[in-house]
Amino acid sequence: MMIASSIDELQVARRLLDGTVGLVPTMGYLHEGHLSLIRLAKSECDRVAISIFVNPTQFGANEDLSKYPRDLERDLKLIDPLGVDLVWNPTPEVMYPPGYQTWVEVESLTRPLEGSMRPGHFKGVTTVVAKLFNAVQPHRAYFGQKDAQQAAVIRQMVRDLNFPIELVVCPTLREADGLAMSSRNKYLEGADRQSATVLFRALSAAKSAYENGERDAEKLRALMKEVLASEPKANPQYVSCADYDTLEELDTVKGKSLLSMAVLIGKTRLIDNFVLG
Ligand code: AMP
Repeated sequence: MMIASSIDELQVARRLLDGTVGLVPTMGYLHEGHLSLIRLAKSECDRVAISIFVNPTQFGANEDLSKYPRDLERDLKLIDPLGVDLVWNPTPEVMYPPGYQTWVEVESLTRPLEGSMRPGHFKGVTTVVAKLFNAVQPHRAYFGQKDAQQAAVIRQMVRDLNFPIELVVCPTLREADGLAMSSRNKYLEGADRQSATVLFRALSAAKSAYENGERDAEKLRALMKEVLASEPKANPQYVSCADYDTLEELDTVKGKSLLSMAVLIGKTRLIDNFVLG
């Protein structure tokens, strides 16, 4: 397994990768969700590269950049058995050297949901992912359905900027009680961990109403809010039932749709979603 930090090291290492290359971009502090992306990439590509980079430009001023969990040694141990060919672990200075001034921005898809709560977030995401794509030049890139809007925004960017890359979106891995795996789950202490299952419970309630024939999107949003309201520690930021492709809020559910939410459990901000149809 080659480990690169600078752009020069990355380029030397990249030239040694023959055949199809799959890239799995991550912010590290890896869990089974990340590992499932790596395993899928490994099964579909000749070579697998992963990036580990806590991207400062996608964090808002009041967000958790400085306390975001980081542990490279632990991450390298976790991926050791998976046959990863290249790990790229750049520093913020490598990605954004002094004088840096170029940004990639996707427009309307980044406005609702996460974009409405985290101004500038997706500008940071698309910029760093474009830089990762340019540096690694993968044939395929693997993202999680857990970050549904991120996957949609990157799909749009790939199409608009003609990146010759196939995007693969992988299902969300969950703990036994339904909580979506996330590096941020580390912040959930004591009773917060149990309270955090309320996102899964709310999404499940709306999904079973949908499966029983409910197509009124407002009723599905109301149902999710009702379940969230039953959990005193949960403070919802948004609750959405939107078109899967445009992310616009629906009146009536038809075709592929996305139930999604962001909820504060104490101080920990969690997101989750289910796809309908
Ligand atoms: P992150 O390190 O949180 O930026 O995540 C890196 C990639 O892993 C993103 O494409 C995420 O959508 C994906 N991911 C995060 N959590 C999960 C999960 N529970 N199941 C599947 N993929 C995930």
